Amino acid sequence: MTGRVYDLAVIGTGIVGATAVGLAALRHPGASVVAVCAGAVHDGSTVRSLAVDIPAGRTEEQRALARRSLDLRSELAALAPALNAESRPSYWVLPAGGAAEVDNQLVGDALAPCGPEQQEALRAVFGGAVGAAGTELRCSAEATLSEPATAVEQLLRPLGDGPDRDLVEGFAVRAIEPCADGYRLVAEDGGELTARRVLAAPGAAALTGPFAATAERHGARTKKIVAYRLRGGGPGAHRPLLVLDEPDAFLLPVGPDRDWCYSITSTDWDCPPERALLAPNPADRALAEAVLSEQLPGFQPEFTGCRTGVDLYLPDFAPLVTPLDGPDGAALDGTVLVTGGAGSGFRLAPGMAEAALALLGLD
Ligand SMILES: Cc1cc2nc3c(=O)[nH]c(=O)nc-3n(C[C@H](O)[C@H](O)[C@H](O)COP(=O)(O)OP(=O)(O)OC[C@H]3O[C@@H](n4cnc5c(N)ncnc54)[C@H](O)[C@@H]3O)c2cc1C
Repeated sequence: MTGRVYDLAVIGTGIVGATAVGLAALRHPGASVVAVCAGAVHDGSTVRSLAVDIPAGRTEEQRALARRSLDLRSELAALAPALNAESRPSYWVLPAGGAAEVDNQLVGDALAPCGPEQQEALRAVFGGAVGAAGTELRCSAEATLSEPATAVEQLLRPLGDGPDRDLVEGFAVRAIEPCADGYRLVAEDGGELTARRVLAAPGAAALTGPFAATAERHGARTKKIVAYRLRGGGPGAHRPLLVLDEPDAFLLPVGPDRDWCYSITSTDWDCPPERALLAPNPADRALAEAVLSEQLPGFQPEFTGCRTGVDLYLPDFAPLVTPLDGPDGAALDGTVLVTGGAGSGFRLAPGMAEAALALLGLD
């Protein structure tokens, strides 16, 4: 790598960094690109993601990002068919009168009431109490699902295409130093590479190393996300995705039988981004059980496993796309930090990556 100056260095090979690589390859086929990751390619949160997309946003700006991500994901699917690999009918359990608030956040069609047949099918799977008095059942457009690990590999594939494209694993960036040719990336083990532009997509690790000052200045915090593996419920022929009335909580059917992934955001803020230090705690499990017994009292699954991950949250829950701060606090031209998935980073990655490339003049 010595002596070479890449047009673009991408730090991070989660879905955001990988999408940036894919988009850059599609739009700037002549550009020399290197992507680096601290450990192995799948060492971040992306591989733990359930990769569900129900396009929605709290603000008009967030909805625009969700809409743009949806369009871009269809475009990127030519390069990465594991994006949008599947779709599932989706249903919602809401408190009576709660649909209007969800409708305001959805991109696309509003929620529709469930007909008697749909209610019957849901009761066959989740028990007779689903949709009981005080709650309402609604359905939305189908949710799209992706295969996160395969999608990342497919998006990074252009890096194997030519002599000017590289993927470097085990390159944990310790410093990003301005130099005559752009920026020198210095790794923990002393390795170096140089690029004219730097796109940093470090996920929750944005609060560490050379990204920390920028992320802290914007009020970023980490939060744990837990996805339990459950077994139970009726065998129903069409097991749907079921969204619950709890932030980011949903049940996703997996496999052909009675297995589910049950995603719920923990109340554990400021946890370390290292996977090895993350574990569900009794409070996570108590919250998960309480939400189920309150909203689906007839559904009493066995908890059979769990995966945890951590994501970065900004105060307004919108992603952060901003130049990196230099040592004196001034923005470093030709750099961008893109992170802050806030539990939705998989579905928003295309819009985030496009906005970051645009800041680098690579739109
Ligand atoms: C259990 C769970 C379920 C989820 N479900 C969904 C869902 O259904 N839908 C959805 O949209 N989102 C979901 N999410 C959120 C989503 O997975 C994340 O927002 C997204 O994966 C973040 O991607 P990323 O590329 O920003 O970061 P990551 O995937 O964490 O990647 C970060 C990369 O940066 C690299 N890196 C970090 N620091 C350095 C450094 N100093 N030097 C070099 N490389 C570095 C790492 O090596 C890694 O490659 C879920 C998350 C979890 C944990």
